[in-house]
Amino acid sequence: MSARFELTRDPRVRHILASRWLPWLLIAATLPFFALAILTGLFGTPAGNRNFGIVFVWVVWWAVLILLLVPFGGRLWCAICPIPAPGEWLQRRAILGPRPGGRLHSLGLKWPRRLRNIWLQNAAFLLVALFAALILTTPLASAFVLLLMVGVALATSALFERRTFCRYLCPVGGFIGLYAQVAPLEVRVKDRSVCATHTVKTCYTGSEAGYGCPWLLYPATLDKNTYCGLCTECLKTCPHDNIGLYLRPPGADLVTGKGHRLDEAYKGMIMLTCALAYSVVLMGPWAALKEAAFAIGTPGWFAYAFVFLAANLVIVPGLFFACAVMSEQISHTTVPLRRLFVDYAYALVPLGLGAWAAFSVSFVFINLSYAWPVLSDPFGWGWNLFGTAQWTWTPYADGLLPYVQWLMLCLGLVGAIGVSLKTARDHHGRQVAAMPIVAFCVLFTLGLVWLYV
Ligand code: SF4
Ligand code: SF4
Repeated sequence: MSARFELTRDPRVRHILASRWLPWLLIAATLPFFALAILTGLFGTPAGNRNFGIVFVWVVWWAVLILLLVPFGGRLWCAICPIPAPGEWLQRRAILGPRPGGRLHSLGLKWPRRLRNIWLQNAAFLLVALFAALILTTPLASAFVLLLMVGVALATSALFERRTFCRYLCPVGGFIGLYAQVAPLEVRVKDRSVCATHTVKTCYTGSEAGYGCPWLLYPATLDKNTYCGLCTECLKTCPHDNIGLYLRPPGADLVTGKGHRLDEAYKGMIMLTCALAYSVVLMGPWAALKEAAFAIGTPGWFAYAFVFLAANLVIVPGLFFACAVMSEQISHTTVPLRRLFVDYAYALVPLGLGAWAAFSVSFVFINLSYAWPVLSDPFGWGWNLFGTAQWTWTPYADGLLPYVQWLMLCLGLVGAIGVSLKTARDHHGRQVAAMPIVAFCVLFTLGLVWLYV
């Protein structure tokens, strides 16, 4: 606790975060870009590298998300994401709000208890990942995916309470939440004893000052970043000024050992496998594999899809389970195997984030120069709004790339080893029990290094 620093101790920071203009202004800033990404996808050139929708969503936004927002801000993107905004405004019948008592206009149905987990998010992410070759390169397909997300978010807001879509359905939110545990930023209650005596719990129910936690959390019990959308609503509704924004050591959630779940463990494995699969398909020396991934509907693609899904759902989790079994045998622990498997899986959070960062940085450096022409000519219709339409493609920082990738992979591996050893200490009292997990992480990293160099 002593290593945390409360940013909201500064009255100016507190004032800004408690203002209703935040995060509204930031959403208002992202919304036009999002609308333009859909419009250019629907009506612009089908050439992906000349279309704003493709370049700005899958290169610029992705780079900002995975290299900056998630590692340093956790769910900061979710605080400014335009996708749930129309549904939320409809629920609130207000754009800036708040409505009296924070009352929402929706059927207010409760999400089914059996689905209160991230299995649907895991499935939705896998579906997008399976068709990634199409979605990431075809403007029309990309626009349909974005429209589908807004449509489902709107329908969910009309039927269910608060941000049910973000909490249980959004395929992007699923992995942001997982990796948000690494971030050095958190919203937490200052003093839980104050919450115990505040019977009204306005941070959950809402008040004249704002809405109850849109993410269906009770902030007093918040002990990890996974489901906190950093919306700052609880900073507005707590009458005792008992909620703060803190800086903390990176990865603090991962070493507490609290709230570990099988659906999140599987998310860690799916993300890790997808990072490896994309690296193999897009950067490996196997041209036939790349062709199969792009040739949707052909026998080659079905074979690719089968292997891709098997790797995500069976092969990688199976290998990891085998490592957990070895760990159990080394230590002769009485901790149930399922518990070990799930707890050790959190080591894959820093490993996966490092892998995604290393993978992303390559295509970002290679493709970022496409951003300048599409800024001037977003639809590819021959406009030249800012005089940059003719700027030619140039890969950036080519020679630097392998070093940056190395650094990111190493940081991920160091984090993974740290979490593995901590888990072993907690469960077995002996760090040596973590060796099979550490070996898994090292081999995975070496595989990526081999692919990248
Ligand atoms: S969960 Fe998804 S839709 Fe919701 S705010 Fe986050 S990214 Fe946006
Ligand atoms: S805990 Fe607070 S900041 Fe986090 S989602 Fe809930 S209301 Fe927003």
